[in-house]
Amino acid sequence: HAASEEGGCWKIHDPSATGAREWALSLLGELDQAIDAGHIWVAYQPKMELATGAIVGAEALVRWTHATRGPIDPAEFVEMAERHGRIDRLTAFVLNDAARAAAAAVAYDPGFAISVNISPQLLATREVVDMVRRVLRKHRLPASALVLEITETAAMVEGQTALKLLEELRAMGVELSIDDYGTGMSTLAYLRRIPANELKVDKRFAASLLSSPEDQAVMRSTIELAHTLGMHVVAEGVETAETLQMLRAMGCEIGQGYHIGRPMEWLSFMDIFSPRPSRAADG
Ligand code: C2E
Ligand code: MG
Ligand code: MG
Ligand code: MG
Repeated sequence: HAASEEGGCWKIHDPSATGAREWALSLLGELDQAIDAGHIWVAYQPKMELATGAIVGAEALVRWTHATRGPIDPAEFVEMAERHGRIDRLTAFVLNDAARAAAAAVAYDPGFAISVNISPQLLATREVVDMVRRVLRKHRLPASALVLEITETAAMVEGQTALKLLEELRAMGVELSIDDYGTGMSTLAYLRRIPANELKVDKRFAASLLSSPEDQAVMRSTIELAHTLGMHVVAEGVETAETLQMLRAMGCEIGQGYHIGRPMEWLSFMDIFSPRPSRAADG
C-alpha cells in the first residue's frame, strides 16, 4: 500500500517515512483539542545576567504532555507542526502565554523580557507581524518585553521577505535574537544585515568550553564580533558553575542552562525567581 506515483513512475515509500507521516498527522489532528485541554503548555527557563546574577528574562519552551503517550519531544512535534502547516496555531498559543507571563513580570521588573522561538516558516508571510501586534495589545505589553528567537538559517532561507519582516518587528520595538548561533552557515554579511540585538550561541559551545582551548578562542572572538555588531551575547547550555564563571570572565552578558535553572511552569518560575521591584528602582 505504501506506494505512490512520483515523476511518472511508482515508487515504494520508505516505510519509516510513511510511518512518520501517519504519526505526525494523527498527532496534529489532536492539536487544537490538546491546547484546549491544557496538555500543550509552556515552560519557562531563566536567563541570568552573569555580572550580577540577576534573572533578567526567560525563554518560553512549548511542551506537550500527551494524555496517553506522556511527554513528547518538543523538537519532534514542533518540526511536525512546521511541516504540516500547524506552526502558526502552535506559535499563536505560545506567544499568548508568553505575553501574559511577561505582562505579570514587567509589573515588578520593567527590564524583564520573555523570549519566544519563531520558526522559519513564519517568516514567509506578514501574519507573524499581526500576531505579535495583537498579543502586545491584548496584554498591554511593551514591545521591548518580547524577544523573538530566530535561528541563523531561518532569516537567510526566506531572503528579502524575512529581512523586511524582521526590520518591521524591530521598528515596533520587539527584540530579536539569533538562536543556535554557530550551527548554521551564516556569513558575516548576513550577520551584519539581520537587525538583531542578541546573539545566542548554541549549547554545543558551552558544553565543550572547559575542555577545549579552541572553543574558548571561538567563544572569545564570537563575543567580540557580537559586541562589534552591537549585540549582547547569550550562552545557552550552561550546565556547571565553572562554565558560568568562564563565560562571565569572557564578557558574555547572559547565561541560560540547567545550572541556572531548568524549564519549568510559570507559577514555579515566579515562586523561585520572582522579579524584584528593587531592580526597577535602580533604573
Ligand atoms: P532552543 O530554542 O535552542 O531551546 C533550547 C533548548 O535547550 C531547549 O530544549 C532547552 O530545554 C534545552 N536546554 C536548556 N538548558 C540546557 C542545558 O543546560 N543543557 C542542555 N543539554 N539543554 C538545555 P527543548 O525545550 O527540548 O526545545 C528544543 C527546541 O525546540 C528549541 O531549541 C526550539 O528550537 C524548539 N522549540 C521549543 N519551543 C518552541 C516553540 O514554542 N516554537 C518553536 N518554533 N520552536 C520551539
Ligand atoms: Mg530558542
Ligand atoms: Mg537555541
Ligand atoms: Mg533551536
